[in-house]
Amino acid sequence: MSETPSLLRRLIDAGLFIDTGAPGLYGRSGAFEEVIDRIDAAFVRAAGDDVTEVVRFPPGMNRRVFETSGYLKSFPQLAGTVHAFCGAHSDHMDLLEHLAAGEDWMGKQEPTEVVLTPAACYPLYPVVAARGPLAETGGLFDLQSYCFRHEPSDDPARMQMFRMHEMVRLGDQDQVLAFRAQWLERGQALVTSLELPFSLDLANDPFFGRGGKLMAAGQRAQQLKFELLVPIHSEEHPTACFSFNYHQDHFGLTWDIKTAAGEVAHTACVGIGLERVAIALFNQHGLSSSAWPVGVRKALWG
Ligand code: AMP
Ligand code: ZN
Repeated sequence: MSETPSLLRRLIDAGLFIDTGAPGLYGRSGAFEEVIDRIDAAFVRAAGDDVTEVVRFPPGMNRRVFETSGYLKSFPQLAGTVHAFCGAHSDHMDLLEHLAAGEDWMGKQEPTEVVLTPAACYPLYPVVAARGPLAETGGLFDLQSYCFRHEPSDDPARMQMFRMHEMVRLGDQDQVLAFRAQWLERGQALVTSLELPFSLDLANDPFFGRGGKLMAAGQRAQQLKFELLVPIHSEEHPTACFSFNYHQDHFGLTWDIKTAAGEVAHTACVGIGLERVAIALFNQHGLSSSAWPVGVRKALWG
């Protein structure tokens, strides 16, 4: 009896994913991208008549902004930094010799001012802070970016480079908690319309090291993160497809963002993993999107 091929193998064999030889780094076919576009549009439609400001940043962010944001305190293991050759002619010769000999050629690579964006919302906060205090109504932003996380895996839903679409709310505590509560409903309605099985659960981020356990426990005790989980490669360990995060005043304090009343702003964000939802759909409804159930096609294509 032959073993069922893994989901990754099936995605590659169906031509939806293109193997690059590096785990968690895939090319995508036109058919896969069409589904990504439809999910992206459905996520924006779920925002109803919310008035959002659309902002797009490249997938690399200012290293100083990244350093100030506190990401390295919590997730040094996931960060990706961009380095570039900064040598002279002799260093170049040296690099080529090392390369030809199959040796380490990174000697003259130096850190640039760019790091890879780990979550779509990170570049936003200093930009909002620079505008001055928020309006009475607070702020509401729509961001989408490729993100990098160094977590190589052969689970196709755990990539190193993937797209995250986020809605970000800034304001007083009541405003941002109301936003999160509203998106908890919207996220469930969206996934229901896609006919995917799901559960909603309290969650924590993968904080690094010895202090990490304590931070994770604190995050859970304060109910700062919820995830909408869909079984993809395992019923027992379903995969987070949406995250609903309340940052309290972390970014407000870090970047000196003030409400109209002069208080430190609170923030929250809801993020959808576009590839994860697409993979969940292909896994649940089959590898050809034209054969998906009528209701699912209607939810995506209208
Ligand atoms: P997080 O900031 O960890 O809550 O991530 C936000 C969303 O991005 C998650 O709910 C996932 O849908 C998606 N995501 C996170 N990590 C990955 C990954 N390694 N590969 C694909 N999608 C991811
Ligand atoms: Zn975010």
